[in-house]
Amino acid sequence: MAKKIVIIGAGAGGGISLSKLRRVLKDEDVDITIIDKLGRTDFQPSYIFLSIGQKRVKDLSRDFNLLNGGHVKTVKDEVVSVDAQNRIVNTLKGKYSYDYLIMSPGPDIKKDSFEGIEATDSVWTLEDSLKLRAKIKEFNGGKILISVSSQWYKCPPVPWEMALLLDDYFRKKNMRDKVEITVAHPVSKPMEMYGPGLSDPFAKMLEKRSIGGLYGKKLLGIDASKKEAVFEDDDRLRFDLSIVAPPHSPPSFIKDNEYLRSKNGWASTNLKDFRNPKYDDIFAIGDVIAPTIQIGMAGVLAHFQADTASSAIAEDIIGYPFIDYNKNAVCIIATGSSGVFSYCDLSAKLTDPSVKFPECRMIGNDPLFRFAHDLYEVNFLSSIYGNR
Ligand SMILES: Cc1cc2nc3c(=O)[nH]c(=O)nc-3n(C[C@H](O)[C@H](O)[C@H](O)COP(=O)(O)OP(=O)(O)OC[C@H]3O[C@@H](n4cnc5c(N)ncnc54)[C@H](O)[C@@H]3O)c2cc1C
Repeated sequence: MAKKIVIIGAGAGGGISLSKLRRVLKDEDVDITIIDKLGRTDFQPSYIFLSIGQKRVKDLSRDFNLLNGGHVKTVKDEVVSVDAQNRIVNTLKGKYSYDYLIMSPGPDIKKDSFEGIEATDSVWTLEDSLKLRAKIKEFNGGKILISVSSQWYKCPPVPWEMALLLDDYFRKKNMRDKVEITVAHPVSKPMEMYGPGLSDPFAKMLEKRSIGGLYGKKLLGIDASKKEAVFEDDDRLRFDLSIVAPPHSPPSFIKDNEYLRSKNGWASTNLKDFRNPKYDDIFAIGDVIAPTIQIGMAGVLAHFQADTASSAIAEDIIGYPFIDYNKNAVCIIATGSSGVFSYCDLSAKLTDPSVKFPECRMIGNDPLFRFAHDLYEVNFLSSIYGNR
């Protein structure tokens, strides 16, 4: 009888898992149900370009109903709980039984748990990036502050990447002298989490581009009436426009489930094949495991984890060869019309808690890498959607 696979989330981890499973398993082997509350797949790295008017929604987003067909069924609905003992996923509108479950729902991004956050803008969702686009277009000078409200947020380099993009954007509009750009971050220097191989060249680049910094201070709240960001030790920064990563928290169907959550409330998993330690028919990958394994939230990591988790399922069902987890990461960071290419070996950081940073290095700045960033968007969407 065909095995039932349920995938939660049609983003990077869920989408890539689906494309792998669809390729190796035949209609008679499996029924795959993919559930997503938004009903779409976004190439989220392009939100920053959307916010400065360099991309359209249709370039970076696909309706996941295009995935329907053959042994794949799409369900636009919100997962509210998982009954691991009875192998059932409960949604707002229904119930789905499974033989294998892949969870890649990413974090919940909510603006209600941080004082004054509603007065800030963000590039961490498609909707926020569109709102920000209108404000950037009309911005005619003043102070721009970029910061983060939680330790865990999607794509750690984004604050600095966004600062460099805005620098380039306002230079091209001949008004850079009217705009002050500051990144405020709890780390002690730019990109510290990637070690000196990335941090040192980034610090130099930011200085050269006159991008200011406030480092080593946690953002505590936003005083909306005064348009001020309040940091530890009552350091305050006034802004005319602020771009702040909203709080990212584990989805409640994971946080509230003793079998699915790890000690810190994010998803429990293992680094070999991403199975739940107690229920080996449940897999957790992507941003929702990043704080558990203590590595940044990044699509490239979700991608390699999806390769491994989906191969483990295909191995169980048809004896397909298992793919070991690839503990490397590459990332192109846009700096304007150019970009840098960074490479990190995560093996030591993932396996030894005393290792502080991954082994990273970068090359660039070069327009070739900015072009490669656009190519990656096309490649990501077509690897999941083909020519649908
Ligand atoms: C501005 C920005 C720039 C980025 N740049 C980069 C980059 O350059 N390189 C890089 O590697 N990564 C980058 N990322 C990060 C990358 O996009 C994420 O790490 C990646 O998408 C994580 O994949 P995921 O599958 O875990 O979650 P997601 O891709 O977020 O997918 C989760 C899906 O689950 C759905 N979902 C959530 N909860 C539920 C529920 N309860 N029920 C049903 N469905 C649910 C959501 O609707 C969503 O579609 C960036 C992210 C942002 C925001």
